[in-house]
Amino acid sequence: MIKYNLLCTDCEITFDSWFASSKEYEKLKRKKLLVCHSCNSQKVEKSLMAPQLINSKKKQKETLDIAKYKDVKKTIKDYQKFIKENFKYVGENFAYEARSVHYDKKNNTKGIYGNASKKDLKELKEEGIEAQMIPWIEDKDN
Ligand SMILES: [Zn+2]
Repeated sequence: MIKYNLLCTDCEITFDSWFASSKEYEKLKRKKLLVCHSCNSQKVEKSLMAPQLINSKKKQKETLDIAKYKDVKKTIKDYQKFIKENFKYVGENFAYEARSVHYDKKNNTKGIYGNASKKDLKELKEEGIEAQMIPWIEDKDN
């Protein structure tokens, strides 16, 4: 015996039904002997195969994630604005500039920001230079 959760695509109810085997299910379906308990429609499917059920759940989650993402994105944007106004952009030279700021104290007037690899960050940290990794959103990504 095998139990299937069936879905009627007409009235969208689901119900459990027992079959001797999956073959029997296929046979009954082919002979149009599978009918909805509620509306007698023959459009009855195994609910595992009902993509509309799975999709609506997934969609809900995606909507939530997007809302969360927008929130985070705004925070990052605010942070970025602050950094752009208060720090000097040094691009790919970050590791080099960070060292010169660190070792040449006279130059230590303004913070810097730029691109660095994980390896750069690790090396800087070993030299006692703290750098913070922040997520970055390009303006074109609006
Ligand atoms: Zn039905």
